[in-house]
Amino acid sequence: MWCSRCCIETNSEKCPVCGAATDEDVAVKIFRCDACNVPIINAVSDVDKGTCPLCGGKTKYFVADLRTVFPEEKLLLAILLDKKPNFFMNRSVWAAAGKYYVDGKALTVSSKIFTRTDTDSIAKKFFGAVHETNYERFNEDIAKFVRANRFRHAALKDEADNFIRRASKNFTDERIIISFSGGKDSTVTADLVTKALTNPNLVHIFSNTTLEFPSTLDYVTRYRKNHPQAIFQTATNSEQNFFDVCEDIGPPARMMRWCCSMFKTGPIARVISSLYRDQKILTFYGIRKAESVTRSKYNRLEDNADSIKIRQQTVASPIFFWKDLDVWLYIFAEKLDFNAAYRLGYDRVGCWCCPNNTQRALFLSRIFMPLETKKWRNFLVDFAKKIGKPDPENYVDAGKWKARQGGNGLVAANDVKIRFTNCTTEEHAKIYKLARPFNDELVNLFVPFGKIAPELGSKILRETLVLDLKTNAPILSIMPFKQGTAVKIKTLNVADHDELTACEVAA
Ligand SMILES: [Zn+2]
Repeated sequence: MWCSRCCIETNSEKCPVCGAATDEDVAVKIFRCDACNVPIINAVSDVDKGTCPLCGGKTKYFVADLRTVFPEEKLLLAILLDKKPNFFMNRSVWAAAGKYYVDGKALTVSSKIFTRTDTDSIAKKFFGAVHETNYERFNEDIAKFVRANRFRHAALKDEADNFIRRASKNFTDERIIISFSGGKDSTVTADLVTKALTNPNLVHIFSNTTLEFPSTLDYVTRYRKNHPQAIFQTATNSEQNFFDVCEDIGPPARMMRWCCSMFKTGPIARVISSLYRDQKILTFYGIRKAESVTRSKYNRLEDNADSIKIRQQTVASPIFFWKDLDVWLYIFAEKLDFNAAYRLGYDRVGCWCCPNNTQRALFLSRIFMPLETKKWRNFLVDFAKKIGKPDPENYVDAGKWKARQGGNGLVAANDVKIRFTNCTTEEHAKIYKLARPFNDELVNLFVPFGKIAPELGSKILRETLVLDLKTNAPILSIMPFKQGTAVKIKTLNVADHDELTACEVAA
């Protein structure tokens, strides 16, 4: 435990000096030994920080965090900067927050590079020179990095091991799930949990959103082959096609990520409920606090039904406090296989068309997934025309589509003529007669209004609640009526019940 006020480490939940609540999160920084040309991860509380464990010389503060730059990305960087293909091959290169560090020196790459549209010619140069990638120097650097950080690796592993065994003490192994995304964080989590519980048979749930990188699917195939004893379940939405839904309700945007519940959390919840019904379960996720602001609000061990999406589930994240560089250290030290997308320079893997992806990630996808990204761009340009954007190409290329709010301009939003009767017994409730029987597909149409939360509604009434994305307050209640030939929709917690529109999602 760590007191961030007094900067001291303690075993107690209260700081012995100032009495404030301590945090499990210990301040960690990356130092560097210039003589050994290696980054060293140190907790601020480490007694021997400032000393290189390899040469005994002095280290100095380097950066807050780092990610690995593989030879493939070194090659791409050389091409983008008009250098010879092997320019970076024999140098130690790491990256952090928009900067590269070459033999310890910062190299800023203009973000304009990632808006370049001549990605076909960049791809041609890349594949023409890919034989110049060379892992010799890279492997030496990584071996040195692992040696210099062996105590950090041992401490991380030991601490995570204790945490995992503590978190799972009330669960039999059959009721423990590893959430597996194919990214580096869940790779490390799966390895830690399997080793800590010394059980190779644990249930893994992989959610295939149908929008995965090809390398993710390749990696999952290898993972299953190398872990034949793992019980591996794939959660996927086989009823809807992402692109068809985009046609109907418009592409997702940062504030309207309807795709997440429809293609990821929804299918996962269905797999979990079919496997476990109402049994209490424990799911290990590779969530890290440093990843995003919303994630930093989670706790490392969370069983509060309001903050997690599946009611009978406790979630635990062994690597919650880890740095990016800690994750890489673990992968290299344990010699784990991982998703090849990282070799190309992606810093996270997920849906390739996610509106939350950075310009740099989109740029990489234009190089390495040209067919998919062109199809997606064409769709977005058509959509921009449909909603009357004056400069559709710029709307798409400048990333403005990602900031769209509400259902503006959509045919579906203007063209609805539906008959309803006011519910006589309940205020703000309306009953709509349905042409087709009530089903999940109907419920999913409410995604633009907020987060669909079937688990929070009344089970007996088959009620689904829709939560406001910002406040998590329920704003709509949806339930089948008259044996499913009609639907009752009730507005909740909104100021003007007639004015609830999809725009409120982003308000
Ligand atoms: Zn040294």
